[in-house]
Amino acid sequence: MASMTETARGVVLRSFNEPLSIEEAEIPNAGPGAVVVKVTHGGICGTDVHLHHGNLPIPIPVILGHEGIGVIQQLGEGVTTDFAGTLIKEGDAVAWMSSIPCGHCYWCVIEHERTLCESRKVYGINQSFDVWPKLSGSWADAIYLQPGSTIFKLPDGVTPEQAIALGCAGPTAVHGVLDIVKVNVGDTVVVQGSGPVGLAAAMYAHFSGAAKVIVVGGPASRLALAKEIGVGDVHFDIFDGSTVEERLKLILAETPNGRGADVVLECTGVPKAVPEGFEMARKNGRYLVLGQYTDRGEVPINPHIITKKQLSVYGSWTFGEPHYQKYINTLPKLSERFQLERLVTPYPLADANRAMTDMASGNVMKPVLIAN
Ligand SMILES: [Zn+2]
Ligand SMILES: [Zn+2]
Repeated sequence: MASMTETARGVVLRSFNEPLSIEEAEIPNAGPGAVVVKVTHGGICGTDVHLHHGNLPIPIPVILGHEGIGVIQQLGEGVTTDFAGTLIKEGDAVAWMSSIPCGHCYWCVIEHERTLCESRKVYGINQSFDVWPKLSGSWADAIYLQPGSTIFKLPDGVTPEQAIALGCAGPTAVHGVLDIVKVNVGDTVVVQGSGPVGLAAAMYAHFSGAAKVIVVGGPASRLALAKEIGVGDVHFDIFDGSTVEERLKLILAETPNGRGADVVLECTGVPKAVPEGFEMARKNGRYLVLGQYTDRGEVPINPHIITKKQLSVYGSWTFGEPHYQKYINTLPKLSERFQLERLVTPYPLADANRAMTDMASGNVMKPVLIAN
């Protein structure tokens, strides 16, 4: 149990584009409804690089980290189960929702789209290090999960490395691929992008019974890893020197009778991937824009193609509690089939700056800070 004198280190973003600092804060005792978790693994995702560069409006200073796995250190009064109703106790390995929706607004109550809530608290993003309980990000020795937080006990046999390997990309893909665009048995699916979101989307396309999953991405090292762990049936390297037209021809040749993919999943975050992806979809096909989490600007789109092809174009924004639960439920099968732990590159918590540099370079798939 935490005592009032115990402290935790946290990786703090104080100034955009400056090195992150390691700072300490007291670990509070868990109040009613709250949970103190000893963080073991803090995932780094592309969003963190954007946060570091000041591309999103966030309060600083902030302890970064919206992906985490840890061990329950102290349960506050009234907290007895996880989201699925499973009893939890101190010492259990858990994950948690990075966000707490307000539960009162139009989006939360009327639309039941809690991901669209405009007053969400998000750990590692909008919870200031200057404000109690301070420990509100996963790149730390401990995190204070406020009342209203959602916790998920890890399934037996799933390691923390496996659970953190896809990070927020896992539940993001559950939401977009399974709930929004709905990949069907026998579909031919193109996945644009081979980062964590692309790989997670491809994994769930496989699980949905896709006849063929075509991964279009890069750099070559990421595609090689995807191939090695069995993600995707066909792979195209966008950096291999071929033109967009040449690539499109080859991709279409991989679809039934060359008519295009039933579903195209955009997981790149690069605006120009969208018009290119429209060309890969068949008539009456479905296109999901899943990767554009930061505003990277505009791109010319010919809307005629949407009408002419009768395309259905979808968007999907982050994920809610049920998506995260589905992700947790699929972790044993994901781990068994795709060697998830191979996506992870571990770093000591104190090496957060090096991990961020490696993430920005695209040389590693999923850098993970190891705290305890
Ligand atoms: Zn993320
Ligand atoms: Zn709300």
